[in-house]
Amino acid sequence: MEGFSYKHRSDILRRFQNQVFDVVIIGGGITGAGIALDAVTRGLKTALVEKNDFASGTSSKSTKLIHGGLRYLKQFHFKMVADVGRERRIVHKIAPHLVMPEKMLLPVMKKSSMGMLAISAGLKLYDILAGVRGDDRRKMLGRSSTLAEEPLLPEEEIKGSGLYAEYRTDDARLTIELIKTAHRYGAICCNYLQVKDFHYRDSLIDGVHCVDQFNQNEIFLRGRHIINASGPWVDELRAIDHSLTGKKLFITKGVHLVISREELPVKHSIYFEIEDGRMIFLIPRDRITYIGTTDTPFKGDKDHPDVSKEDAEYLLGAVNSIFPDINLKFSDIESSWAGLRPLIYEEGKTASEISRKDEVFQAPSGLMSIAGGKLTGYRKMARKVVDRIVRDLKRREHLSFGKCKTSRIQLSGNKFRNYQAVSAYIVKITKRLRECNVPEIYAAYLVHNYGIQANYIIDQMNHIASRDPEWRLLKSELNYCLHWEMVCKPLDFLERRTGRLYFWIGTVRKYYMDILNTFRERLDWDQEVYDEEKATLEKIIRSSNTFT
Ligand code: FAD
Repeated sequence: MEGFSYKHRSDILRRFQNQVFDVVIIGGGITGAGIALDAVTRGLKTALVEKNDFASGTSSKSTKLIHGGLRYLKQFHFKMVADVGRERRIVHKIAPHLVMPEKMLLPVMKKSSMGMLAISAGLKLYDILAGVRGDDRRKMLGRSSTLAEEPLLPEEEIKGSGLYAEYRTDDARLTIELIKTAHRYGAICCNYLQVKDFHYRDSLIDGVHCVDQFNQNEIFLRGRHIINASGPWVDELRAIDHSLTGKKLFITKGVHLVISREELPVKHSIYFEIEDGRMIFLIPRDRITYIGTTDTPFKGDKDHPDVSKEDAEYLLGAVNSIFPDINLKFSDIESSWAGLRPLIYEEGKTASEISRKDEVFQAPSGLMSIAGGKLTGYRKMARKVVDRIVRDLKRREHLSFGKCKTSRIQLSGNKFRNYQAVSAYIVKITKRLRECNVPEIYAAYLVHNYGIQANYIIDQMNHIASRDPEWRLLKSELNYCLHWEMVCKPLDFLERRTGRLYFWIGTVRKYYMDILNTFRERLDWDQEVYDEEKATLEKIIRSSNTFT
């Protein structure tokens, strides 16, 4: 298979212009990526355009859980719990290295709003609805077992806990693997191509006018169906189409903080209630633990949501309030991110109360917009949209396409039967890293990020001349991502392909000049581009743990 890289971009752009696509998707987040894979695997001619990098919107800024939707239970949305429960099993099956089981501890404290009995019954119902089986079913732990599982919890306050099954992922990696898989099946996907306007024939939408973000060239794509999957920007495109009527988006911001494992050494993922009644996640991952999230209405610049001092204070306070021996300070924050939830406005409801349900808006022009929803439900959302397209193409043009196949399509990077096979592979990769003098902690990182592609990355380290094994690994990852994952800018690599900006920021600080130099060499940057990218990167690194 040919590569998927910046070097192939002009070829991709040429292919955009010489055909009529069955579907043109706007937005390369999880929603757009899921639609692209569903459509192309049913035989539709599929194109996807993304104004920035793939997953640069909300789909790299979530809590990174493939939820069973415990909070929906509180709102009595039983069908939703059953649906997302089924979905997370499927997504785990098609990418077990990337969507892995994660036990979540739900502590019950003296001042918790629900007691042990209510939590026990709730988690049991949750397991039944979500189809959780065998050892994965919830366990209720008494006071001493809870403290043995998580010694940092406050001894005098704790009554017990529930331990239940969730799945952890990396949202941006899931998105890029979907895009790569769609590309493998023939979808034409391109980042840094922004839709600015629509084209109509007899008042019906039949094309999109885009601008290439690298040179401001105009590109036109023609499509039988145009899908607006632009997340928080959905209403902007509906406005361009003059169809922004009825329901609208309500954007809320959610913030996460990253703390080193030494400062916050929890053994488990924990989901705990704080004084204002909200629930907060603590999620250990490799060498750090991250905390999230806030949920506040947002009206600022959607391209640059930032973490305010108030947001950071709230989350630090939440952790300090539950763990008496932990006293987190601003200086403990290694990194952070802020994401925007594209929710659908509901009269009289607060940010936290608004449903996370997805909805499709069909405009008179034919523009189909999809918004709301969750990472977890991406496959079902895609099926809903593509089913509509297929029905329409059959009715209008007598074209026939098959049924949704994505529950059986393995995402790229996956050759594993189950998570046991992933664990065995981590052991194998650990051994290989030891032989290359690379710290073993990178084994889980590599396998969870790249699956079986990790082997290739380690093989390629041999061709990199350096005495520093960590740099050889990083550069091999960079080479891989430049060639196979359409990395065009340093942040594509550091934030969305590797998560290093969040989870390994020390390596970003240490190697960013080497990374910039590699980009200069590989993408033929002139001095102006180099200076601009350097300034952007330095600003992002600085702002990842300074707040105003
Ligand atoms: P996006 O990821 O924002 O993608 C839309 C894309 O469209 C963007 O990349 C944007 O650049 C592009 N675009 C916009 N305008 C244009 C244009 N004119 N031309 C071309 N491209 C354009 N869900 C879960 O299941 N589990 C979780 O743990 C979870 N946690 C969350 C925590 C937070 C703080 C937030 C904010 C959300 C969370 N979610 C979670 C929800 C989930 O992240 C989102 O539902 C999902 O990522 C939305 O994806 P999307 O593709 O619709 O939007």
